[in-house]
Amino acid sequence: MQRYGHFIGGSFVDPAEGEWFETKNPYTGEAWAEIARGTKSDIEKAVAAAEAGFEEWSALTPSARGKALYRLAEHIEADAARLAEIEVRDNGKLYAEMFSQTKYLAEWYRYYGGLADKVEGAVIPTDKGGIFNFTRYEPIGVVGMITPWNSPLLLLAWKLAAALAAGNTAVIKPSEFTSASTLEFMTLFEKAGFPAGVVNTVTGFGVEAGAPLVEHPRVSKIAFTGSDIGGQKVYETAAKQIKHVSLELGGKSPNVVFEDADIDAAVMGAISGIFAATGQTCIAGSRLLLQRSIHDRFVGRLLEVAREAKIGDPMLAETNVGPVTTPAQYRKVLDYIEIARAEGAKCVLGGKPVEDQPGGQFVEPTVFTGVSNEMRIAQEEVFGPVLAVIPFEDEADAVRIANAVDFGLAAGVWTKDMGRALRMSERLRAGTVWVNTYRAISYTSPFGGYKRSGIGRESGLEAIKEYLQVKSVWIAT
Ligand code: NAD
Repeated sequence: MQRYGHFIGGSFVDPAEGEWFETKNPYTGEAWAEIARGTKSDIEKAVAAAEAGFEEWSALTPSARGKALYRLAEHIEADAARLAEIEVRDNGKLYAEMFSQTKYLAEWYRYYGGLADKVEGAVIPTDKGGIFNFTRYEPIGVVGMITPWNSPLLLLAWKLAAALAAGNTAVIKPSEFTSASTLEFMTLFEKAGFPAGVVNTVTGFGVEAGAPLVEHPRVSKIAFTGSDIGGQKVYETAAKQIKHVSLELGGKSPNVVFEDADIDAAVMGAISGIFAATGQTCIAGSRLLLQRSIHDRFVGRLLEVAREAKIGDPMLAETNVGPVTTPAQYRKVLDYIEIARAEGAKCVLGGKPVEDQPGGQFVEPTVFTGVSNEMRIAQEEVFGPVLAVIPFEDEADAVRIANAVDFGLAAGVWTKDMGRALRMSERLRAGTVWVNTYRAISYTSPFGGYKRSGIGRESGLEAIKEYLQVKSVWIAT
């Protein structure tokens, strides 16, 4: 079986403790590679390599760093099919989606490559005479990046492109379920002419490899994407060292459909909002808020379309819904379906495991109606293909229900009334609001959470500042 060591200081190395673990294909259920099981000693080596890399990388001109990122983008595009195939082998998402996503992530490296030499300090007109004051932006240092299993390379790009452009170096800890694509990605940096040690990856489990990275005193910032519980632990640990932290966490996003909406478009938005990637996206529109006057008609149309979804092999172009990525997640999704039933919600579609697929990790696309916003199925992140439909009366009611959750990652609004669209986009407490569309993202637009969905922003101009610190310099004249 293929083996992947850690990537430290420009080469693959065996784990310090000599331990490995298997990574499995969620579609077939078969183990296909062995991954190094990282511990504190591996993190120590990787941080030392990243510190050495920092000396060289941060001393380059911003333009030189930008050009390296442009070269990297070319390699990503050339290698997108292979990287996407590896991601699918580990997370079971649809190949068609992973291929376009992987190709697209080159744009993050280009965007921040272009931005590298455009971050300008300022001359400050202070109230002091005989003294000259200016600001300069400096990198933070070694950044620890911890990523989840649902879109490993995309979520890494959101951090890494900005961090590298700003002059930082990285130690990456990918999810234990999807380590391979990040390790394969590391080989592109040498091809693109990056100095050794600028990027490093230590694989392994959260407590064994992730926690020592967060605890390491010479890691100056942690950029974490994952569950709110994981993020909270990271935040608490980082606080002990007053470490910079950015957190991209979970969601329970409302997709709000008003009676004047284009119903066909809204149905497709609701379907892709919850069933794309088998519901395993942080932005899943897992609460569908329907104005009562269109509730029954809308649900009828939604079920017609959802029933057509083809479940199966994620590598095939005709497949719409693939497996759940991990055994634990599969059990969690089924548990939530039982919880929803027990709470009195009505299962109008799906609600069972799919028996005729290999691997044993498929759940039918599932829709619950009769959900009230206080139920657990409406409050907690399921991270699976389970939709909770909640009726509302009017605009004020929709806002109240939409905002009455701990999370605030994203929200969708479907209406032809532009005044209402503007009012809703102002009143919804979420980092992203989509009107008459759902799931649009871009390297140019900031993404991040309100409330329990996170701290800080990724993508867009804002995000580079997450990886810089500003210094104020005073010179007596
Ligand atoms: P998770 O929190 O279980 O794990 C995420 C990462 O953290 C993994 O690499 C894991 O090994 C590591 N980790 C776990 N415990 C740790 C600890 N104590 N110290 C350091 N590292 C630790 O999340 P997951 O199940 O892999 O991912 C799914 C979650 O990610 C969902 O909640 C989803 O909403 C969220 N997510 C958020 C975004 C976003 O941009 N906001 C994007 C994708 C996924």
